Amino acid sequence: MTELRETYETVIGLEVHAELRTETKIFCGCSTRFGAAPNTLCCPVCTGQPGSLPRLNRRVVEHAIAAGLVLDCRIRRETRMDRKNYFYPDLPKSYQISQLYAPICYDGAVRVRTPQEAAEKFTVRIHELHMEEDAGKLIHSEDGKHSLVDYNRCGVPLLEIVTEPDLRSAEQVVAFLKELRDRLLYAGISDCRMQEGSMRVDVNLSVHKPGTPLGTRTEMKNLSSFRSVRQAIAAETKRQLAVLAAGGAVRQETRRFDEATGESVGMRSKENAEDYRYFPEPDLPLIRISPEWIAQVKASLPKSRRERQAYYASAWGLPAYDAELLTEDADVADFFERTAAAGAPPKEAGKFILTELLRVRKEGEPFPVTPEALAELLRLLADGRINRTTAKEIFTRMLSEPIAPAEYVKAQGLSLVSDETALRETAERILRENPEAVQDYRNGKQKAIGYLVGQTMKALRGRGQAERIRGLLEEALGRLE
Ligand code: ADP
Ligand code: ZN
Ligand code: MG
Repeated sequence: MTELRETYETVIGLEVHAELRTETKIFCGCSTRFGAAPNTLCCPVCTGQPGSLPRLNRRVVEHAIAAGLVLDCRIRRETRMDRKNYFYPDLPKSYQISQLYAPICYDGAVRVRTPQEAAEKFTVRIHELHMEEDAGKLIHSEDGKHSLVDYNRCGVPLLEIVTEPDLRSAEQVVAFLKELRDRLLYAGISDCRMQEGSMRVDVNLSVHKPGTPLGTRTEMKNLSSFRSVRQAIAAETKRQLAVLAAGGAVRQETRRFDEATGESVGMRSKENAEDYRYFPEPDLPLIRISPEWIAQVKASLPKSRRERQAYYASAWGLPAYDAELLTEDADVADFFERTAAAGAPPKEAGKFILTELLRVRKEGEPFPVTPEALAELLRLLADGRINRTTAKEIFTRMLSEPIAPAEYVKAQGLSLVSDETALRETAERILRENPEAVQDYRNGKQKAIGYLVGQTMKALRGRGQAERIRGLLEEALGRLE
């Protein structure tokens, strides 16, 4: 076993399903909203009633073109939908409209870097990318006696992205999925939320000795977290090596991975395309994609995550690490940019969002303050009207009350004392009242100045700027010599 582990490598190819961010379904006008009451978002088309006819949603094609562009694929000038026949209770039509013969995009490539070693990059080729409809959802009762079906998800548009078997480890798979998520998310194509099922992953895995032909693969379907992807890869690699070590052969099959036990069980020998009796979908016409249409989609693509990071660093001087964290989530990046656009100094805004706002923000919920209000607060800080401690205090208040920061500062008398004469008088008084500290300072004790700054700040009831006070004290000490 150990020996096999050392001489064999794991080979992985992925099939990723991403739900599209369209308002309506792929072949009808029903809403794609998540979380509605069961069977409230369906019609004769998405449930396949006799006499109903599908009509292709133009936005789905545009999202697929956009995905092709961000994954460096070739885009077919003519593409069409195909019918994949099978029965399952969550599929009322008994067929799925998908693409087999002429998928919209093919021959792509994605460069990925692993987080561990930023220098270590690898390329994953994209075999194809196609459009299809999702199926409904079965809900099984706890006693196992009956199952319920919710057709709301029938006809929700999906992209299926199929890679070549170019991945060699769980680390590479996770790094690739994160890169894929970033690209689809920032292009506005899909939310790619694995926990909500808007991104699902099928892992195809085999083992072989490098330099020899690929081994027989098995497929594990519908993994819905990075954790289960990692677990499934480790467990299936181990299982296949054990089969080989015992002199057996791996069987090509679909296996179900159980997150609770960390093991996979064989479900069925793998079905082939022929089993589905695919044929061109007769109810939908050929889809023609002109170069002009592609150019239009390209022109309307929002900035990618990398482009945004580069902009934050070059135009606004943000540290690379801050730019990385701020773009982890596209909503946070949008919020940050709106705060900067509302007049906050970008560097300060980035820092404040990362340290203060993200700490109190609950994911998926609206931000607790508006970008405009935060910008107003940060301008007060940048202009030296308030200090950082006061800024944080006001921010905490803003979370529970609708406060206009500038007005609040005025009303509460929180402005820093900026009157030069008053500041100087206070500094001089503190020096007179603390002759020992002054003596210490003169004897070369650097720490004494810190004490004097503290005392002056106290006399100003916290409404001073430490650096400014230090300057005034040093000046006054010079004069008094
Ligand atoms: P099928 O047409 O039977 O679904 P494909 O050739 O389309 O098979 O491949 C499906 C997926 O399996 C792809 O993601 C591909 O990268 C992956 N794959 C193919 N061969 C292997 C292999 N030997 N080991 C691991 N993954 C593989
Ligand atoms: Zn419908
Ligand atoms: Mg396939």
